[in-house]
Amino acid sequence: HLERVGFIGLGNMGSRMANNLIKAGYNVAVHDINLSVIKMFSDKGISVKGSPMEVAETSDVVITMLPSPTHVLDVYTGPNGLLSGGNPVRPWLFIDSSTIDPQTTRKLSSVVSNCALIEKKDSWETPVMLDAPVSGGVPAAENGTLTFMVGGPEEAYKAAQPLFSSMGKNTIYCGSSGTGSAAKICNNLAMAVSMLGVSEAFVLGQSLGIKASTLTKIFNSSSARCWSSDTYNPVPGVMDGVPSSRNYDGGFASTLMAKDLNLASASAKEIGVKCPLTSEANHIFTKLCDEGHGTKDFSFVFRNFYSGKDE
Ligand code: NAD
Repeated sequence: HLERVGFIGLGNMGSRMANNLIKAGYNVAVHDINLSVIKMFSDKGISVKGSPMEVAETSDVVITMLPSPTHVLDVYTGPNGLLSGGNPVRPWLFIDSSTIDPQTTRKLSSVVSNCALIEKKDSWETPVMLDAPVSGGVPAAENGTLTFMVGGPEEAYKAAQPLFSSMGKNTIYCGSSGTGSAAKICNNLAMAVSMLGVSEAFVLGQSLGIKASTLTKIFNSSSARCWSSDTYNPVPGVMDGVPSSRNYDGGFASTLMAKDLNLASASAKEIGVKCPLTSEANHIFTKLCDEGHGTKDFSFVFRNFYSGKDE
């Protein structure tokens, strides 16, 4: 019962994920508001739909990969949205892979499970929603090696496993609805803070007379070693094949990082948890975007805020 898959949001990530589902043999129908991306799919003979509602009418499973919570809410509950075609609904499973906040995920999950199904599927009495954000970026989306972090009913997670395996390498079950979203925003806040920490340390180090390449060797065999120092170094020329070595183009846009830090800040505020480093990182990335660098990879923070001397 997983064969008819609707896919909404065919951007940098979604277009590649949808392609991997098509390659795996699923009967995929797609929708996006960007007509040029839609044309790429219709030219390949893939079924394209004019609205999320039309996708829902013909799909057993619907996957969304959209920029932010407002887009996801719009696609689910807006006019011509997934749930606007009346109740009962056709899809038994809704998977949202967008990075959004756990509060929005939980709200939508309860709206979904309050609907009825046109046709009952196995033991499912009502449709189910899983939050399944991803890590790995565009290359992993392309190669089908994403990591999925999944929240929602465990039985639905198990049933959806073949879909996740078609698009990713690792799938981690996180717990009840919203825990996948929580895992993702926590991962990205730690990544932002470590990138800022590494950038700040490199600027100070260079100013004190140590070369960035030497400091990188030291970090990577010492206790400061982290993904930002050994895999995604922000200093131009230290590492090949990373955004810092191609003028910070491609990679993970600073606007998306600012959005994720906003989600983490808002979630922390809502539940009364103090996150001072998240606030500071949020402030820095928001300023970076306001200054016109939003499309640059997030490791651009090194250049913008800590513009130390190059080697
Ligand atoms: P993107 O902006 O490239 O793609 C989003 C797509 O959604 C676009 O094609 C847009 O036209 C479409 N869209 C927007 N509103 C729509 C609507 N109402 N109806 C239909 N389509 C609509 O973004 P992306 O880089 O693919 O990222 C998608 C999500 O994945 C984001 O939440 C992002 O934070 C997350 N993410 C991105 C990366 C990355 O490296 N790019 C990595 C992990 C997670």
